[in-house]
Amino acid sequence: MDLGIRGRRGLVCAASKGLGRGCAEALAQAGVDLVINSRTESEITRTAREIADRHGVSVTPVAADITTQEGRARVLEAVGQADILVTNAGGPPPGNWTDWNRDDFIRAIDANMLSSVALMQALVPGMMDRGWGRVVNITSQSVRSPIAVLGLSNTARTGLTGFVAGMSRQVAGRGVCVNNILPGIHATDRADSLDKGVAEQQGISMDDARRQRQAGIPTGTYGQPEDFGATCAFLCSQHAKFIVGQNILLDGGALNVTI
Ligand code: NAP
Repeated sequence: MDLGIRGRRGLVCAASKGLGRGCAEALAQAGVDLVINSRTESEITRTAREIADRHGVSVTPVAADITTQEGRARVLEAVGQADILVTNAGGPPPGNWTDWNRDDFIRAIDANMLSSVALMQALVPGMMDRGWGRVVNITSQSVRSPIAVLGLSNTARTGLTGFVAGMSRQVAGRGVCVNNILPGIHATDRADSLDKGVAEQQGISMDDARRQRQAGIPTGTYGQPEDFGATCAFLCSQHAKFIVGQNILLDGGALNVTI
């Protein structure tokens, strides 16, 4: 299917690997010129080169911490204006609800809620002026079904979801569609580090920890960043113009709900 976005300009945050990279690859395959970001210069430069070589689009890397104002300013300067925005950042650390203090909450909310809000505030007005835009925020399945040890993530991402629910309806009439994708467990370094935590906590091997978590997913597998990216690219496509303010759960059926 032609996604109808060849020649568009996009920003994908936190994209040197994992889900962000999956999105960048799929958008590049659809012909979108990109600015991609992550903190480690060597990694983001290598990823940009690989994506550009593979798909023949322009890919500009920006090494910056997207959760800081200074980092966002540098990324936004490199982007100029964008038709497509994918917001993403690392997730907050696990822990216990009794241990988190105000600073922990502020850090999580800054990283996983307010950074996305600030990027939308910077880029969506231009999309509205030009009459076309797509935004995908990468959040988490924890928005629909909380994961207690990831309480900082539950809190920040649910806040972002509430914000998007309102503003997406305010901008849809100007051709801008804003949606969230909620990843369940995907095979990325983040999943490895969570498996490691489970293995250490339960005194089992990494393989056993993984098998245990896979057993809770109806597909019996972890999701793949490539498939995640393809969904993101569809939401950024010409064909997604009637999808507004939605929370698309990609979890292999793990969440046992009717709707
Ligand atoms: P990942 O494989 O660890 O990749 C994270 C990417 O983000 C890397 O490119 C990393 O590069 C970059 N990054 C991290 N913090 C950043 C920051 N402050 N500024 C800019 N770039 C940053 O993680 P992932 O699995 O793709 O997860 C992406 C998001 O989805 C996370 O928020 C995660 O919590 C959420 N999520 C993932 C899963 C899953 O199963 N994978 C499930 C639910 C939710 P640098 O370290 O070089 O910056």
